[in-house]
Parts: sequence; C-alpha cells; structure tokens
Amino acid sequence: MADKHKNFIGGEWVKPTTGEYFENRNPAKQSDLIGLWPRSGRDDVDRAVEAARRGYETWRRTPAPERGALLKTVGDLLTARKDEIARAATREMGKTLQETRGDVQEGIDTAYYAATEGRRLFGHTVPSELRDKWAMSFRRPIGVCGLITPFNFPMAIPTWKMFPALLCGNSVIIKPAEDVPHTVTLLVEILEEAGIPRGVVNLVHGLGEEVGAAIVEHPGIPVISFTGSTETGRIVGRICGEMHKRLSLEMGGKNAQIVMPDADLDLALEGVLWGAFGTTGQRCTATSRLLLHEDIHDEFVDRLRKQAKGLKLGYGLDGDVEVGPLINEASREKVEQYVEIGQGEGDLALGGERATGRALKDGFFFEPTIFTDVQPGSRIATEEIFGPVLSVIRFGDVDEAFRINNEVKYGLSSSVYTRDVNVSFRALQELDNGITYVNAPTIGAEAHLPFGGVKQTGNGHREGGWEVYEFYSETKVGYLDYSGRLQRAQIDNYAGPGQEPEEAERL
Ligand code: NAD
Repeated sequence: MADKHKNFIGGEWVKPTTGEYFENRNPAKQSDLIGLWPRSGRDDVDRAVEAARRGYETWRRTPAPERGALLKTVGDLLTARKDEIARAATREMGKTLQETRGDVQEGIDTAYYAATEGRRLFGHTVPSELRDKWAMSFRRPIGVCGLITPFNFPMAIPTWKMFPALLCGNSVIIKPAEDVPHTVTLLVEILEEAGIPRGVVNLVHGLGEEVGAAIVEHPGIPVISFTGSTETGRIVGRICGEMHKRLSLEMGGKNAQIVMPDADLDLALEGVLWGAFGTTGQRCTATSRLLLHEDIHDEFVDRLRKQAKGLKLGYGLDGDVEVGPLINEASREKVEQYVEIGQGEGDLALGGERATGRALKDGFFFEPTIFTDVQPGSRIATEEIFGPVLSVIRFGDVDEAFRINNEVKYGLSSSVYTRDVNVSFRALQELDNGITYVNAPTIGAEAHLPFGGVKQTGNGHREGGWEVYEFYSETKVGYLDYSGRLQRAQIDNYAGPGQEPEEAERL
C-alpha cells in the first residue's frame, strides 16, 4: 500500500478534510507508484487561510534580517539534501538528474539571495519640498499569498515565489501541480526543520480546478502568484481582476533561436539541441522555433537531424539518458495532435511518433521531432506545444528574422547566434521578449536577475532578482513634519507665477 501524504496547515501535517487522495506515478515508469497525495477541498483552503492569517501576525513583526537568517538555514538544508531531492524530483517529473540538480540549485541560489535581501529591502529618503519635513518610502508586507505552481520546475518555481514572499513578511499557501507534489512536500519539510513559525507556510495539495480555484477565489488571500499555461492564467486573471487582487502571472512561450550566417555553427547546434529537447521541450523557455538564415539552412538542418536522432531517451535517473518522458498522457496526446497539424504545415524531418523501445513502453515518451519549411504564421510556429517539437523557419535577412520572432502572441525568451556586435545589440533592443540571449540558448536564467515575459506570457511582473520583492510588498510613504505649523504642500511653498513663496518672504 502506497504512503498517504498530508497537507501542512498551521504547523501540523494534517489529512485532507475530504478523505480523498490522488496518485503520483513516475512518468517514465507508470508501474512505479510514488505515493498518494491529498485531493483537498475548499474546507482545507479555509483552514489554511485561517492559519496563514495568524501566522502573518507574528511573521510580519519579525525583523526582515531575522526572516532572512531563516532562509539562509533553508538554503543550507537544501544544499545538504540536494541530491536526494533531485532524485525525488526526477522520479515524479521525469527530467534527467542533472536537470533536477539544477532545479534544486536554483532553489538554493534563491534562498541565499533572499537571505541577503533581508538586509536591503530598500526604500527611498528624498528631500521634502517644505522646510523641516522629511519624506521617505519603505516596504510593508501585504498578507496571505496564494502560490500556484506548474509541474516543470518542481523546486525552482515554488522557491521563486515562496522565499521572496516570506522575506517580505507575508505568510503563504502553496498548491503545487498535481503531477509533482513530492518535491514541494520535501521543501516544506525543510522549512519546518529550519524553524518557520506555525501558519507562516501552508501547503494544500489538490487539483487545479478544486484547490487552485479555491485559493484564487478566496477573499482572505489578497495576493496570487501563478505560473502555468496562458489558458489557465486567463481564468486566474479574470477572477483576480474582479476581486481586485494583486496578481503575478507567468505563462507560456514560443521561443525562437535565430542563427545568423556568421555564427559559430557548432555552438548554435549545441544550443538548439539543449534548448529544444532538454526537459523534453517542457520549459516555458524551450526553443520551439529555429530561425535559420538561408545561407546556412540546409547544412545546419542536416547536422541537427543527425544529432537529434542520436539523443538517448529514458528514465532520468539512468546515467546516460538525455531526454526524459512527457509529464502525462494528456501532454503526449497534445503533442501528437500538433504533429498531425504540423504534417499539413511543414515537412516532418525527424520523429513524430511515440517512442516505444523496451525501456520506454511504460512511460510517456515521444521522439524528438523536427519540422522544416514551416511558415511563420502557421499553428506549429505560433502555438505553445510544450513537448520535443521544433519548427524550423528559413529567413533572408536580420530584419525578417526579428519580425518573425516578434510575430507571436508570447514574449518570454529569444536567442541570437552571431559574431556581429551590431546584430547583438539590435537583438537586445528589438526582440519583443523579457529575456534575450546572445550566443546562448533560449534557456538559462540566473536566480539574481528578473525573470518573465512580455505580451501574453505575463502581466508585467517579474520573478527573481530584485524586482520580485516589489511584487510581494507594498510601497508606503511616510512624511514627518517637525516645523510645528501647518504646511500645505504645493500651496504654502509656492504661491503662484510671479509671486514669491510665502515661506521665503517670512524668512
Ligand atoms: P497548468 O496551467 O495546467 O497548471 C499550472 C497550475 O495551475 C497547476 O498547479 C494547476 O493545478 C493549477 N490550475 C489548473 N487549473 C486551475 C484553475 N482553474 N485555477 C487555479 N489553478 C489552476 O500548467 P502546467 O501544465 O502545470 O505547466 C505548463 C505551463 O506553464 C506552460 O504553458 C509553460 O509555458 C508555463 N510555464 C511558464 C513559466 C514562466 O515563468 N513563464 C514557467 C514554467 C512554466
């Protein structure tokens, strides 16, 4: 009988009020049942909100450097358990061990960055326009934050949300994607071990339409941070708009790698293999379009096809595996549907089938797939597939390449391979993305820089770096007048055109 896991509410590990559970199975080996996790309901969310409100009252009064010190301990504990957590993440998510180690490392980096931010959280002090008066801004926490996360970075994304929210003095309720409940369970165990006070961190497992929706709709949760598909983000955005909630959305992408004729082609080839087929194409920053200059197109496609064909598929814990499975059957069916669409829109140059070798038949594997001669406006060139499918588009000059890059509704990342400094800087200026890489693939964000996208990828906020601290805190302004008299801003200090300020006359 598989282990039944619990929610973490008010500092206790508790059973769901529903009494119901869902299975967590290994996507590379469906026969491997990892455990049962709570299929919680609205009552569990209500309890978590009550606990989080109480936790907030103590945590918001804890000095920020002390909150940071706790997150430093969390970073140390994650470091000590990095390998064990990465193995658990590979088992439930499917990507290779080196990738899940990277995923945990991003959590560690985020913890250490947050720890030091406790001694910054800068405000401004500026001169007042009036005499004997001070003016300053500073940051205050907001309250209970609802955090909803996707399956593809089971550690990094929860930490991107949780650590800055906590550092700013908020309490949190997190609901991880139902495909990967184990990794966040381990993270919450670590927060508990580090000594997080009761109610400050709450974990409620369950399905998106049930627990996710209950969090988004709860009037006691003023802040929602959501990462997931643009379709789900639209629903979340509508509800948060109606309820006047503070909302951060990080959603889909259709990222392009552009290869100019002067590029180092070996480097560009390595880049696209990693960008398109790493994590089985299931990254928001995955390379799903390859824009090749016509002068190098045929040679590059030839080499790419050979290399992609040689990628080793399998269970991510097996040493030499390069590409894991898709996350579930629904994802594989979605990829299959796009392959069918693609056959009417381009030439299938590689793959296009479920991968069914002996070691693969028990998992959701799909062959690395390449379409060539794809038209920029077609569906496989504009819609997010979220699988190992790459659309190759030919272009004639840099203006055309930039135009094609910008012609999609998403705007997360882009990449340009060139040795021309002018093209490099033009790319930074002109590509409509939150992130542009030069001579590097579309994936590779670092924890201390802002992360996010423009257009339908996001709603203007960023995760990571210094910017995310603005999302999880409110700016407050304080004016201190020690003049001992009523001073009316804009009136007493400036009487009007041609007139001396009253104040100046008096002195
Ligand atoms: P998803 O939208 O299916 O689910 C994301 C989360 O939302 C899950 O926890 C899910 O349970 C929950 N959810 C589902 N329906 C909900 C509802 N009605 N109300 C509230 N919550 C609900 O996404 P996914 O398949 O887990 O992740 C893949 C998507 O995430 C891709 O589109 C990818 O591009 C995107 N993503 C974006 C970023 C980014 O930073 N821009 C990072 C990673 C993934």
